[in-house]
Amino acid sequence: MIDRARLERRIAELSRVGGRGTSVTRLGLSAEEQSARDLVGSWLAGRGATIRRDPAGNLFARIGGEGGAVLVGSHIDSVPDGGRFDGALGVLCAVEAVETLLEGRADLRRPIEVVAWADEEGARFGVGLFGSAAVFGRLAPGVAERRDRQGISVADALRALGERGDPALARRGAKDFTAYLELHIEQGPRLERAGLALGVVAAIVGIYHARVTMSGQADHAGATVMTSRADALVAASEVVLAVERIARARPDTVGTVGEIAVRPGAKNVVPGECVFSLDLRTSRDLDPYVHEVLASVERIAHARNVGASIDELARVPVTTLDPKLRDALRRGARSVGVEAPELTSGAGHDAQNPALAGVPTGMLFVRSTGGSHKPSEFASLDDAALGAQALANTLREIAG
Ligand SMILES: [Zn+2]
Repeated sequence: MIDRARLERRIAELSRVGGRGTSVTRLGLSAEEQSARDLVGSWLAGRGATIRRDPAGNLFARIGGEGGAVLVGSHIDSVPDGGRFDGALGVLCAVEAVETLLEGRADLRRPIEVVAWADEEGARFGVGLFGSAAVFGRLAPGVAERRDRQGISVADALRALGERGDPALARRGAKDFTAYLELHIEQGPRLERAGLALGVVAAIVGIYHARVTMSGQADHAGATVMTSRADALVAASEVVLAVERIARARPDTVGTVGEIAVRPGAKNVVPGECVFSLDLRTSRDLDPYVHEVLASVERIAHARNVGASIDELARVPVTTLDPKLRDALRRGARSVGVEAPELTSGAGHDAQNPALAGVPTGMLFVRSTGGSHKPSEFASLDDAALGAQALANTLREIAG
């Protein structure tokens, strides 16, 4: 049985690493993220696990001998001023589930590896799902040279950890793993509305991230007549509205422009350049949606006589999770008294990378309230314990 007191104690302990009250700031490849890895590693080292950090900063704790392992875990970084549960709960519950199996002397025929992925959020370098992408050979080109706001590159950050600065060295074959399981808070209201503690993820939305630069002509706001302007912000504004219109017209689709910068950025200067983000997500076909948005960027730029360049940062297709593992997780949930519904995840997850690399992958959602990516995000101890027990029972089934 799950040790609730231990789980509760460790939720608090981990939240103090980079945390203050319920707010946690543990950015990818930072010293705080490393302290969190050390803490998680210390819990399983005492259980005879082999602890290893890979060249991308991921932590693996392996129990058992040779052969394809069942991989279980989540990420350990957070967004700035994030909460205690996003990612962390999946690592905490994986550790708790494995310790419970070991304490119960479960007969495990397959090795189990607990993983704490590095830099899932991408809050520091702008590239999410970093650690899992490195392991499954899905890193975007040039990612090691991306820099944070202080000018520190991904390669520099890895070297500061004592690694060689090349995350691609973390690559492992999909054949190293027989399955990947991830528990994560839902980050949405559906389980809360349904009054259920657990849900099984059927699919994860496809995600496209890009940075768009619209280049017009900076001019005097008084002396430049309206008909001879090339206003980059007006063009960008039209794109923002086009994204909304296109997303609304498609089922199960969202689109967001969440960042925008205007240059030179003075009230009496016509905006000469505008740089903004694109976050496009759908659980249908991603590529036609992306294509429609990018075509509208081109059309608007042309009509307004500004230049447009698009820097694609990530494109992850819609991920369907493994039907057998979905069934196994439903049985795991049923074993703790929860009839878990199937849900689609609107957030991206590390689980996409093993799944797209061909590793059978399953995800379990735990009910959460108070939003997500902020200090108010919350999963109750009751729900966390149910999740950990369901995960342990599922692990016993697929590793036993
Ligand atoms: Zn997360």
